[in-house]
Amino acid sequence: MKDKSEGPAVSKGIVHPEKPLEEDGRDMALRPRNLAEFQGQKAMKDNLSVFIQAARERNESLDHLFLIGPPGLGKTTLAQVVANELGVDFKVTSAPALEKPKDLAGILTTLSEKSVFFIDEIHRLKPAIEEMLYIAMEDYELDWIIGQGPSARTIRIPVQPFTLVGATTRAGNVSSPLISRFGITCRFSFYLEEDMEAIVRRSAGILAVKIEDEAAALLARSARGTPRVANRLLRRIRDFAQIKEAVVITKEIVGEGLSRLEIDSLGLERYDRDILKIIIERYNGGPVGAETLAISIGESVDTLEDYYEPYLIQAGFIQRTPRGRTVTQQAYDYLRLPRRQQRTQNDASPSQDSGELLF
Ligand code: ADP
Repeated sequence: MKDKSEGPAVSKGIVHPEKPLEEDGRDMALRPRNLAEFQGQKAMKDNLSVFIQAARERNESLDHLFLIGPPGLGKTTLAQVVANELGVDFKVTSAPALEKPKDLAGILTTLSEKSVFFIDEIHRLKPAIEEMLYIAMEDYELDWIIGQGPSARTIRIPVQPFTLVGATTRAGNVSSPLISRFGITCRFSFYLEEDMEAIVRRSAGILAVKIEDEAAALLARSARGTPRVANRLLRRIRDFAQIKEAVVITKEIVGEGLSRLEIDSLGLERYDRDILKIIIERYNGGPVGAETLAISIGESVDTLEDYYEPYLIQAGFIQRTPRGRTVTQQAYDYLRLPRRQQRTQNDASPSQDSGELLF
């Protein structure tokens, strides 16, 4: 399970992927345990399996690994998979949980040889902790200060060779000295449709849920290329099916469930559509700054930038420019909204949900 100590849940999104909901505790069974079970991200996986095999053959710890990607794409899962493939211990924490150098030292000094140490949200490390980590990563030692004032002295404490796996949704916020100490970088992309389908079918199998092929395909297409969203959607659709006393999940059940959850056929949630509509209606298509946009939709900037935007950008609806966010023509077409110069008084207001629900 994730050992995340995140701030309060601020989003109202139904299938929000970065929130450690209770359900994640039950997610353990769905988590792939080895590279063979880990679907998709093929190029990254192929390279990793070579590096893992080589490290094993040399009987060395794997080089430090840097994982970049939006929430819910499998960074934590992959870190655990790497430890399993190496046959070593796995320890997990997140940067906000490391408040004082002693918190980090406490973990580092208890690591077993060649183990995998996973730090989530590594862009949020405090400078003093980051400094300590540099030496640990490079020399497998800790600088520890004893005493205070003029009598203070530094001693070096050895730690076992280990593999640091650092994960972030924001590579741009990680300092370059830290980045330069990672020997392997893996950048996650949103999953391809066929991989998402395989994930849905695998999870359905583990949950002992019968689902038709067409239904699995529709669910997979509607999960914004994100395994965690697919698993959550599957559970919700299973609830709808159960109440209907359906033995098998059909395409119709998925379609109905998705529209009840206000998720459209591209996987866009109401908030995604609100973001696009606000940029169009209030800011004439942009550019608008992230802070202003976040306030307009009642979300934190982090949630906007980490969760909503990456998918909207990848789907071709939003562009990031130096002056802010702008929507593309595709967004106008998708929401069937005209550009302002062509608009009449009868145009939709931003409060009306004119997002397309295509089932
Ligand atoms: P992140 O750390 O990037 O936020 P997680 O590793 O917690 O994401 O993944 C979220 C969930 O998605 C996991 O519990 C797992 O069940 C599922 N998952 C992630 N990646 C894959 C994958 N490649 N294949 C199958 N399931 C996956």
